Amino acid sequence: MRGHLDCCADVEVEQVREISEGFREDEWVCRCRQCGQYWFSSRWNESLGGRKLEEVRYFRITSAEAEKMMRGSVRGLLEHRDAIAVLNGSTVRRVRGFGPV
Ligand SMILES: [Zn+2]
Repeated sequence: MRGHLDCCADVEVEQVREISEGFREDEWVCRCRQCGQYWFSSRWNESLGGRKLEEVRYFRITSAEAEKMMRGSVRGLLEHRDAIAVLNGSTVRRVRGFGPV
């Protein structure tokens, strides 16, 4: 994750709480150890023409949103929000919401 997120120069993100809404396999509320910024991360794997893709999408969220997410479902908050998508651990793209890779 280091180097992909932009909350501070030396981002170090830890996973705080897993969110299970059944939409994707691996979703977490995360927090930067350096500055305290919360991020929501959503990972999925896909096979495309024999090529394996792993995408992790990061959304910047406020601490209030992080609290809400840890209490229940507020995924709708993020449908139209800009996100940072990291493809196979290296390619970084700016995307919006949970749309296709
Ligand atoms: Zn940070």
